[in-house]
Amino acid sequence: MTAPWTSLPRVRLTELPTPLHRLDRFGDAIGAEVWIKRDDAGPVGTAGNKIRKLEYTLAEAQNLGADAILIIGAQQSNAARATASACAQLGLRCVLVLAGDEPETPSGNLLLDTLFGAEVHFAGTTDWIELWQASQRVADTLREEGSTPYALPAGSSSALGAVGFAAAWAELRDQLAERGVDARTLFHAASSGGTLAGLVVGKAIDGGAGPELHPIGVDAHITPDVPGLARGALELLGMAGTAVDDVPVDLSFVGEGYGIPSPEGVEAIRLLARTEGIVCDPIYSGKALAAVVAAEHAGPCVFWHTGGYQAVFAPHVGAALISR
Ligand SMILES: *Cc1c(COP(=O)(O)O)cnc(C)c1O
Repeated sequence: MTAPWTSLPRVRLTELPTPLHRLDRFGDAIGAEVWIKRDDAGPVGTAGNKIRKLEYTLAEAQNLGADAILIIGAQQSNAARATASACAQLGLRCVLVLAGDEPETPSGNLLLDTLFGAEVHFAGTTDWIELWQASQRVADTLREEGSTPYALPAGSSSALGAVGFAAAWAELRDQLAERGVDARTLFHAASSGGTLAGLVVGKAIDGGAGPELHPIGVDAHITPDVPGLARGALELLGMAGTAVDDVPVDLSFVGEGYGIPSPEGVEAIRLLARTEGIVCDPIYSGKALAAVVAAEHAGPCVFWHTGGYQAVFAPHVGAALISR
């Protein structure tokens, strides 16, 4: 059977498949068999989970004749940085509307955004509705100037973006089969829901086989309509009748809130770094990794490293990882 996503337009922005390998020393340290899916691998601009969504959403933008891509995000948004890098690759204008005020010195993802030539507007607010309204005003201005903007949702989490993670599920399943690994659980960080929705779709197309999904929420205030995104993705794939599971997001590792490092997250990040030489960030992947450390494992598990290490080069983020 040809995979259904091959019928949708896609632009190549990164090298796939990303590696899957076993974490021997980390696994020994926590007493579990842990495999890691390396979506943190690849060029610094495109590394991370967002690029899989952008391969589909930016293909649509190009087909619609868009000449500018617009996205909102936090100042250390991985989605904004991946979009900026992808737009540089495609020769598209990239306009970012980011939360808060312009910092004196850009660092981490924001430094990369600037380097990739993105135009950055600071909305002066961290309220998501106000941020969205600010981006609408920027889009109106672009249209008045004769430009054709394409606005991505936050995190690039549209139904079309989720298709990238349906394909990613199949990629993982092939790699697990090649290695003869019967993984029981799949841990990953979740916020805007596109990654989870895509994995749900991939698993549904797979007849429900493969590891159980264990999404780890990083923001208790974001409740994306994951089944809605999943159904939308299935519709795009011509499989509208397929039933989708509503997988609950585990919010027990959020800690004090979005963007605030948790002690168990920081401890897990330091353990992985010291045993394997791999970097997670304290906002997303580190909180999912804390769940891997805390879990009772009945068999092999997969930790999907969704990326985000670029944020640790922002001084206020990196400082949380250093013990004094
Ligand atoms: C955006 C992001 C996530 C969450 O993915 P969603 O599709 O938004 O749920 C996880 N990890 C990292 C590093 C991210 O940047």
